[in-house]
Amino acid sequence: MQYRCPQCQSPKIMPIAQAGQPAARPVVPKSLVFLIPAIFVLLLLVIISIAMWLFGNGAGSTIQTATVVVFIICVIAGFLFYRDLPDFKISMQAFMQSQKKWKCRDCNHEWEV
Ligand SMILES: [Zn+2]
Repeated sequence: MQYRCPQCQSPKIMPIAQAGQPAARPVVPKSLVFLIPAIFVLLLLVIISIAMWLFGNGAGSTIQTATVVVFIICVIAGFLFYRDLPDFKISMQAFMQSQKKWKCRDCNHEWEV
């Protein structure tokens, strides 16, 4: 099954919620729930560290410690997510297949599978 718009071949499609049907949700692994915010915090800390290096006299030790701690959390969450990935894929596929109505975000074309 191809997840593309039949009209413009765009991959930017989204399922339309159907009234009267229980909304099927993919099971999002907990590791992903940790991984995404951890990556954002890590990026933020890296940016702060770089800014402190550029505009000050080096990153503070608090920032450095925090960066290392968040980096370790990212690695652990990344590893856990890697282990959860096969289950997550199956869950996502089941979710995609359970969706009958789709809408394209590029050309607003709506269709039913
Ligand atoms: Zn389209």
